[in-house]
Amino acid sequence: MDFGLSEQDRAVQAEVRAFVDEHIRPHARKSDEDGYFDVTRVKQLGDAGLLGGPLDRAWGSRGWTHVQWALALMELGAADSSWRGFCTVQTCLCGLLIERFGTVKQQQDLLCKLVSGEWIFAYALTEPEAGTDVAAIQTTATSDGADVLISGTKQWITNGGVADRILVFANADPEQGRDGITCFVVPGDAPGLTREPVEGKELGHRGSNHAVLRFDEVRLPATSVVGGLGKGFEVAMGGLEDGRLGVASGAVGIQQACVDACLEFARSRRQFGRRIGDFQLIQQDLADMWVGLDSSRLLTLQAAWKRDRGESNASEVSVAKYAACEAAVTAADRAVLLHGARGYSSAWPVERYLRDAKGLQIYEGTSHIQRIIIARDLLGKEAR
Ligand SMILES: Cc1cc2nc3c(=O)[nH]c(=O)nc-3n(C[C@H](O)[C@H](O)[C@H](O)COP(=O)(O)OP(=O)(O)OC[C@H]3O[C@@H](n4cnc5c(N)ncnc54)[C@H](O)[C@@H]3O)c2cc1C
Repeated sequence: MDFGLSEQDRAVQAEVRAFVDEHIRPHARKSDEDGYFDVTRVKQLGDAGLLGGPLDRAWGSRGWTHVQWALALMELGAADSSWRGFCTVQTCLCGLLIERFGTVKQQQDLLCKLVSGEWIFAYALTEPEAGTDVAAIQTTATSDGADVLISGTKQWITNGGVADRILVFANADPEQGRDGITCFVVPGDAPGLTREPVEGKELGHRGSNHAVLRFDEVRLPATSVVGGLGKGFEVAMGGLEDGRLGVASGAVGIQQACVDACLEFARSRRQFGRRIGDFQLIQQDLADMWVGLDSSRLLTLQAAWKRDRGESNASEVSVAKYAACEAAVTAADRAVLLHGARGYSSAWPVERYLRDAKGLQIYEGTSHIQRIIIARDLLGKEAR
C-alpha cells in the first residue's frame, strides 16, 4: 500500500488551492449572505479544469484521476460548499453520467460545452412525493408519434433555474414501476418547462441555485433518451455513485476548514491568562476533529483510488459519504462552540460550515440511506 500523493497529485492540489484562494474564497461569505449565484464564475471554473475533472481529455478536460478530482473538490469544499456542489452536479452527476451512459452523439454534443462551462447542467430526480424513494417518481414520458412528452414536477434541483441542459428522470411505463424509469436530456428553454426558486430560504448552500421545475407536455425527440428506455433507475444510481464521492470530498474540505479555523483561534484567543488551546477540553475537541478529518480523507481517497483502478466502489463510496458527512457536521458544530460568540456570527466562517454541512447529510442519499446500503452489503441478499 502506498498512502503518499504523487507529484502530479500535489501539483493539482496546489493549483486548485491557488485558484480557490483567488476566485472562490474571497466571495464565499457575500454570496452566502446575498443568496447570490454568480454565473460568471462558471467559465472560470471551466478554465481551471474544475468542470472537466476526471472526464476524458477528448472533451477538453485535464484528464485528472479520480484521486486528483477528489483532492480538487476537497480544496473547493473547504472554501465554499455551494461551488463544490455546483461542480459535483455538473461534472459527476451529469458529465460522468453522460460519458458512461450517453450515445456517442450525446457525448459529442454535450460534453465539450459541459467541461468548458459554456453550458450549465442539472440533474432532476427528486419530486414532491419521491425523494429517497426514487422508484416512486410520478413524472411521465408519454409517446406521441416519434416524440416523447414529459409532464411532472421536480424540486430541489441544484442549478435548475440556470441550467442549459437538464437530465430529467421520468417514467415511460408506470405499470413497470422502476423498470419504466428513463433518463432524458432536456434543453433549459424547452417550451412547456417553467422554473421557479424552491420555497423558503435554505439553511445552507445559499450561493447555489435550487429550483422547482414544472414540465407541461415538454416535447422531446426520441434521441433525447440517455442510457436506453427503462434504464433510468440504473442510470440515476450510476450518477449518484460518482456524485456521492464528490459530496464526501466536499465534507472532507469542510472538516479541513474547521480544523484550520479552530487551530488559529485556539492559538490566538486567550482566557484566564492562557491561550484557550491549552485547556484540555479544547484539545479534546481538536483531537476529535483531526481524527474525523483524517479518517474521512482516507476513506474518500480509497473510494476514489478504487474508481481509478476500474474496480466497483459503490460500498466504499457509501462508507466515505456517510463517515465524512457525519464528521463534517460534528466538526462544524464543535467549531462553532470553540469560537464562542464569534462562532455564532457570519463575521467568522464556521457558522456557514455548520449550515452547509447539514445539506451534505441530506442530498445524494441521506445518511440514513448510506447506512442502509452499508448494512445490506454486509448482510448480503436473503436466501429465498
Ligand atoms: C441543498 C440540496 C440540493 C439538492 N440538489 C438536488 C439535485 O440537484 N437533484 C435532485 O434530484 N435532488 C436534489 N436534492 C434533493 C435531495 O436529493 C433529497 O432531498 C433527498 O434525496 C431526500 O429526499 P426528501 O427530501 O424527499 O426526504 P424523504 O425521502 O422524504 O426522507 C425524509 C426522512 O426519512 C428518511 N427515510 C426515507 N426513507 C427511509 C428508509 N427507507 N429508511 C430509513 N429512513 C428513511 C430520510 O433519510 C429522511 O431523514 C437536493 C437537496 C438539497 C437539500
